[in-house]
Amino acid sequence: MKNNIDRRCRECGIGKIAPLARAGRKAQHRTMELEIPATIAIPTCDNCGAEWMDRAMARKIDHAMEGVYRQALRNTLLALLDQITAHAPMRQVERLIGLSEGYLSKVKSGRSEPSAELLSSLGLLARDVTGGLKDLDRLWTDAEKGALHDKRYGPAPSKTHEEQGATPARKFRRAG
Ligand SMILES: [Zn+2]
Repeated sequence: MKNNIDRRCRECGIGKIAPLARAGRKAQHRTMELEIPATIAIPTCDNCGAEWMDRAMARKIDHAMEGVYRQALRNTLLALLDQITAHAPMRQVERLIGLSEGYLSKVKSGRSEPSAELLSSLGLLARDVTGGLKDLDRLWTDAEKGALHDKRYGPAPSKTHEEQGATPARKFRRAG
């Protein structure tokens, strides 16, 4: 660690770089910007606050952030499941999202890690649980019949032929 101490900062040319552990530092990790654990000492300039990172330091932070990220995913999962199961039984949600029976209880109890993909589905569903489950049910029914090619999912199509003929990109630019 000797090379991290008593080193002049190349950013400001004034301060010295020393390992500093403090709260309030953030880093983007996959889908979220989260706080770097306060216990992690990062070589930091005592004048301008610039952080100096070598590959080993970056790896250490990345490893710690993976733990922070997983905890954030779990917290989010618990909040979403509370909201969703207030409106529908867990088994119905599992069936319509395509999860095996009991999977959500397993994730809820910490026996399995929730993925960002699962949280994306649950997050969208939580906005309108009853309507969302109805849409999913319709989706699978249509898929059974091979009827999806004829259907439009999403907002209703434009009313006039002129509007339908316009390219979405041009309409978007005009609106902005
Ligand atoms: Zn500096």
